[in-house]
Amino acid sequence: MQILVVGSVAFDTVKTPFGEAKEALGGSATYFASSASFFAPVSVVAVVGEDFPLDDLEYLKAREVDLSGLERRPGRTFRWQGEYGFDLNEAKTLDTQLNVFAEFHPRLPESYREREVVFLANIDPDLQREVLTQVLSPRLVAADTMNFWIQGKPEALRETLKHVQVLLINDAEVRMLAQEPNLVRAARKILTWGPRTLVIKRGEYGALSFSDGGWFAAPALPLENVHDPTGAGDAFAGGFLGFLASTRNFEEANFRRAVIMGSVMASFAVESFSLRRLEHLTYPEIEARYRQFKALAHFEDL
Ligand code: AMP
Repeated sequence: MQILVVGSVAFDTVKTPFGEAKEALGGSATYFASSASFFAPVSVVAVVGEDFPLDDLEYLKAREVDLSGLERRPGRTFRWQGEYGFDLNEAKTLDTQLNVFAEFHPRLPESYREREVVFLANIDPDLQREVLTQVLSPRLVAADTMNFWIQGKPEALRETLKHVQVLLINDAEVRMLAQEPNLVRAARKILTWGPRTLVIKRGEYGALSFSDGGWFAAPALPLENVHDPTGAGDAFAGGFLGFLASTRNFEEANFRRAVIMGSVMASFAVESFSLRRLEHLTYPEIEARYRQFKALAHFEDL
């Protein structure tokens, strides 16, 4: 199955306790496509400005990512600036410049309309919906969002959620969205708004997924080299949806495997700044880490 993603393509300026990157390649759609393209064909809908060097995305073309829905417009590319303290689980946003995204209204290339799996990556919820209305009959719609939109466009976000089957956000976002400090109550509340499955990313503590079928908990791999958590969420979503699209199986048991594959891809994303690790990753490395994850949570009864 082919995947369609709408999200940001960005220049990120990021500081962590382990270093910094200035105006490096980033964006939710970029991280997602870099991850999902290991598993299934990906088509990107986004916009960049005149200042964006398209050569930076050559490696995605080599992985057969379709960039015909990536528009180039007069103006500046989206920019995000963030900082992390010793607790790498929480990004502090210092600056968000929507730039060309402020006036963007996507028109999907005809060939994109039949995509069966859609990922509404972190971007204006109105834009997420504009894309969704142009897709004919998707089998699975998943979405991400963040505090910027939860606080800035709450009604638009709730409207988008009505059309989403899987929502993937972090624990702080779950609490903020539901306005409920208890994660279980918050999850239950969100599942009445549209999504049938809520995947809660908890950084170095792993991920939880919640649906009618109950809870599933995935560990995070204890990693020695974590440099920059930016994009971990999108890389997670890429592994999760890429796995579902490639196996064409949307049953509960397969969702659990997908959560593990999401965790595998997130674990690579955090190992270097920007897209560097995902850019040079190989499929055998992914397989090896999937086995490590399996071993990590495995135990036998007496
Ligand atoms: P993640 O760390 O997976 O949540 O996503 C990080 C990416 O999201 C960065 O590369 C940013 O460029 C991008 N980003 C940050 N804020 C926004 C926003 N308000 N809208 C869209 N993308 C954003």
